[in-house]
Amino acid sequence: MNDDGNDWALETLGIRIGHHRTAEGEHSEPIFATSSFVFNSAAEAAARFAGTSDGNIYSRFTNPTVRAFEERLAAMEGGAACVATASGMSAILATCMGLLQQGDHIVSSRSIFGSTTMLFDKYLARFGIATDYADLSDLHDWQRRITPDTRMLFVETPSNPLIELGDIRALAELAHANNSVLVVDNCFCTPVLQRPLELGADIVIHSATKYLDGQGRAVGGAVVGDRKRVGEDVFGVLRTAGPTMSPFAAWIFLKGLETLSLRMQAHSSNAQRLAEWLATHPGVSRVHYPGLATHPQHALARSQQKMPGGIVAFEVEGGREAAWRVIDATRMLSITANLGDTKTTITHPASTTHGRLSAAQREQAGIREGLLRVAVGLEGLDDIRDDLARGLEFG
Ligand SMILES: *Cc1c(COP(=O)(O)O)cnc(C)c1O
Repeated sequence: MNDDGNDWALETLGIRIGHHRTAEGEHSEPIFATSSFVFNSAAEAAARFAGTSDGNIYSRFTNPTVRAFEERLAAMEGGAACVATASGMSAILATCMGLLQQGDHIVSSRSIFGSTTMLFDKYLARFGIATDYADLSDLHDWQRRITPDTRMLFVETPSNPLIELGDIRALAELAHANNSVLVVDNCFCTPVLQRPLELGADIVIHSATKYLDGQGRAVGGAVVGDRKRVGEDVFGVLRTAGPTMSPFAAWIFLKGLETLSLRMQAHSSNAQRLAEWLATHPGVSRVHYPGLATHPQHALARSQQKMPGGIVAFEVEGGREAAWRVIDATRMLSITANLGDTKTTITHPASTTHGRLSAAQREQAGIREGLLRVAVGLEGLDDIRDDLARGLEFG
């Protein structure tokens, strides 16, 4: 053990890193609710602005509570730098603005968060940055779509809603052989279950809104990586453009990180047992969960994730009508597309998150009418199972 926590366990990092106790001797991390900071003299002010002395100036740039969250998450992901943002989407925007320029090209996995697709296709495209989409699990497809202008590979693994995996080691190699960075949206796994930087990725993106908070209280995001790209290039965008995380939100996420390891293990073991039960249920035709030996990427999941994670998708016979019946028969589960909460949520992707796709696009993506996605919470497993069984028994 040393003071930097260099050899601390992930659990210890999540609890002990980032808080620099003030002269008041507080035990829990304080919220620095201040927009600006004062200097001892005109000379000190000048030195801060010139960048020759370290220290806070203004909370759009840095804030001690936000800094504590950044240091803690960076340590957990194994990155040298972290920048906290107002949302997961602004983390992706700031990364693209910090690392790309007009004429650059992105290759992204096809099944990514809907707003990320929109950001790439509707907004980045307007500024001369084009995006092409590859089949997450088909390395040749990624390779085929790379052009001389490609500077970024972007992947979300496991994917939503079908819980397919991308091979982070292989994608990192492909990126580096083509003068590009690999960016991994690690929202579904968090550093507890998957540490992309160790597998060769350059940048990790988080929607802190999900598991990092874990209790559905606040919206936030983060970018983790090296000192140059994240600490300077992405931070520069934040400091200038201002999609900054507030100290209040940072405090919520900071406290969330303290229990992240325990929560992720509990989410994942609840999900594993739920998936095993669903796989034997006569009303269920198919289960998508990487913790099942029947999952085509079960071996890859074991090699790059510590546990399979908290999201389970499954299919029922009878299409939309049967799927909606399962949802409407629940009494406890929350009917919402959100995930990463202590409360179990259930959603019908074909009519909600993926409702804007054409029927043909959905068919091609494998998102069928009978598909349901459950983000397994921390309630008693029997209660989750009983709630789902109510609608399945009709089937
Ligand atoms: C929710 C989500 C985002 C966007 O995060 P916000 O905090 O809602 O802006 C990005 N990626 C994934 C995988 C998500 O689930």
